Amino acid sequence: LRPNSDEARDIAYHFHSYTNPRVHEEQGPLIMDRGEGIYVFDTQGNRYIEGMSGLWSVAVGFHEQRLIDAATQQMAKLPYYHNFAHRSHGPAIDLAEKLIGMAPVPMSKVFFTNSGSEANDTILKMLWYRSNALGKPEKKKVISRIRGYHGVTVASASMTGLPYNHKSFDLPIDGILHTTCPHYWREGRDGESEEDFATRCAEDLDAMIQSEGPDTIAAFIAEPLMGAGGVVVPPVTYWEKIQAVLGKYDILLIADEVICGFGRTGKMFGSETFDIRPDIMTLSKQITSSYFPFSAFMMTEEVYAPIADEAGRIGVLGHGYTGGAHPVGAAVALENLKIIEERDLVANAAERGAELQAGLRGFAGHPHVGEARGVGLIGALEIVAPEGREEGFNPGQLGAAMNKHFLKNGLISRAMMDAMAFCPPLIITAAQVRDILTAVEQSLEGFAAEMQV
Ligand code: PLP
Repeated sequence: LRPNSDEARDIAYHFHSYTNPRVHEEQGPLIMDRGEGIYVFDTQGNRYIEGMSGLWSVAVGFHEQRLIDAATQQMAKLPYYHNFAHRSHGPAIDLAEKLIGMAPVPMSKVFFTNSGSEANDTILKMLWYRSNALGKPEKKKVISRIRGYHGVTVASASMTGLPYNHKSFDLPIDGILHTTCPHYWREGRDGESEEDFATRCAEDLDAMIQSEGPDTIAAFIAEPLMGAGGVVVPPVTYWEKIQAVLGKYDILLIADEVICGFGRTGKMFGSETFDIRPDIMTLSKQITSSYFPFSAFMMTEEVYAPIADEAGRIGVLGHGYTGGAHPVGAAVALENLKIIEERDLVANAAERGAELQAGLRGFAGHPHVGEARGVGLIGALEIVAPEGREEGFNPGQLGAAMNKHFLKNGLISRAMMDAMAFCPPLIITAAQVRDILTAVEQSLEGFAAEMQV
């Protein structure tokens, strides 16, 4: 590395998220320079299909002039204001009304935050507050799922059900429980049908509630379709059975729509795709296409009213963020949602999604593909070891190896352990879906050749 090069300075000064620091010190970074449509270009001029929309989030592509203009105009007019102490501004009001209007079930209020983690963390605090308001201080536990992903702050990382997010961080905190991961391919038993597996997931949840005491559980949090845990599509009848259990014990349902929301699964919300009736919905990522850090959660009147009553009694809601309801973020979100609607990107996600899913299913017979799965424009291929050599690989090693072949073929995917995820921008065309599938085919060939030696 040239001294003082970007690579050398990155290694010297930049502590990366979700990166092995010691490997980074040896390998250095992949430095991106600019974006255009579904593509990003590194500083060497190499072009990649951003098959992950960054981090599952850039719905409208990497150079949308309308979002740049919306941000610039808002910056020039009122670059910052907040919503503390009854203050408000146009973009926050418009966006709150817009989101309530878009909700798949009747929602009452929107609370603005800055990241998915922060939104989920805030939801937990609001639930504790609500339980106190209702005179049920013992009803505060939350159940999430093994491999669910809800963020990395202390509370949201506790709700996340992945080992890396707990290990050595002294997490999870008390009162957060994790139930069965609804991944039929991995967790289903010999001879067990998908529906029977869904029944077992619901029974496991029921048993956990019973053993903890139904009066101690405030809520169940889940992604309609798990993203970061490996793109796990719930088995048929899963959501119907889970919701029946929650209904039995008066437990609120939080749909974490941070990845699924705004078209990803081929409907506006994952809750619509899977027929979920949430009490609270977490929103982020595609809400601004990640051009601006932004998040929110919506709640029903039943959730909101006791919180508002309690704050009324105390005198103020003791919670809020300097950047919450940021006018620039809200303006970008409004324009982004307008683009999604005007260009009918949800329908495009459904149509291009069907092509992507059919293409991925076409690799299911490949000797290195254990499962092809997904819905709409989110999918994954589970990479498996050569037959008989399963013991020779650590978890994640195959995914890391596969990633190198993808990059060589100009495709950015993300290895979730050994599952290669696909989550391209919603603006993708049919020809670009074919380009992804061609790159996957070439990468699988390269990977198979590497495995033979
Ligand atoms: N919830 C879900 C479903 C997510 O996928 C993520 C991030 O990937 C989060 C929450 C956390 O969001 P953030 O990284 O903005 O804190």
